[in-house]
Formats: sequence, structure tokens, C-alpha cells
Amino acid sequence: MPLICVNLPHWNTEHNRNKLEGNSMSDYSHILVTVDLTEECRTVAERAASLAKLYDAKFSCIHVIEPLSLAYGGDIPMDLSTIQEQIQDTAQSHLSEFAKTMGIASEDQHLVFGRPEVEIHALAEQMGADLIVVGSHGRHGLALLLGSTANGVLHGAGCDVLAVRVGTK
Ligand code: AMP
Repeated sequence: MPLICVNLPHWNTEHNRNKLEGNSMSDYSHILVTVDLTEECRTVAERAASLAKLYDAKFSCIHVIEPLSLAYGGDIPMDLSTIQEQIQDTAQSHLSEFAKTMGIASEDQHLVFGRPEVEIHALAEQMGADLIVVGSHGRHGLALLLGSTANGVLHGAGCDVLAVRVGTK
């Protein structure tokens, strides 16, 4: 009799057992990974990609550009539109390059303007995503008081949020 080896991940083995037995009630169907286009976002996206593969889920990504006018208000008395366009072009090419390495189709790559947490919530709801994956620096003290994108995404999300620890050894 042939021996069949199934390589189960070390976490959530109960779920995997259910999945192997055809019980997919708790599967995620659409995973949205949030990418800030820093070195660390690969760690976050790789975790999200593994989950998307495990659950055979649709896999989308979002990068949010904060408009300079939001960041600086009317403080800078000059036309920022050219700089803003350059930022958008650079972000667009970095996002498509990065998403391609993660196997995310171009129609599932989203580049939007606004406040990250607001836009992430809005897109997740619009697409019917059931899991948002975000990086978390595990800040404490003053940095925690000032808030983080992970906190912002967690509070007010209409679906599950997975915070992947980044920036620590
Ligand atoms: P931070 O608030 O800088 O600690 O960012 C933590 C995580 O939030 C990152 O790893 C990303 O998952 C997400 N994030 C931060 N900024 C953005 C952004 N502009 N667009 C999309 N996701 C972001």
C-alpha cells in the first residue's frame, strides 16, 4: 500500500484537517494585503500569500498614497501637483513590480489616494474581502500613543485582520 505524506503547516492543523476532509466552512475567500512598499512589506505579503494559497482565496493588494495636500495642508504655498504625479508614477511601478513577484494579477493591484486606514477599510468592504493582512511594528510608549496603521486598520474593520509582526528580530 503506498504511503501518502501530507505536509501540514505547524499552525492551525485542525483547520487543515477539516480542509482535507472537505469541510471548508471557515475558509477565507478574499484576502487583502496592505503594502507600504518598504523592505518589510515582503514579510507581510508572503504571509498573506501563504494563506491565500492555503484557502485557495482571491488575493489582492493595496497601497495608499497620502496626498501631499493632506500631509501639509495649506502650509506650503506652491503647486504640489507635479511632485504628486511623480510620487504616483513611482508608487505605481514599485507596486506592479512587487505584486508581480507575489503572483498578484494586475486587476487585483490597487493604488489609491487618501488616509491608509480609511481607504483600506473602504476597499475591503467594496471588494467583500474577508481578511485584511497588515504589518505591525509592535510599538509601545509614545509611538503607540501616536497610533499606527495596524491599529487604525484593526479598529473599524468589517472583517478579520491579521497583524504580521515586522521590524523585530
Ligand atoms: P506602520 O503604521 O508604518 O507601522 O505600517 C504598518 C503596516 O501598515 C505596513 O506594514 C503595511 O501593512 C500597512 N501600511 C502602512 N502604510 C501603508 C500604505 N500607505 N498603504 C498600504 N498599507 C500601508
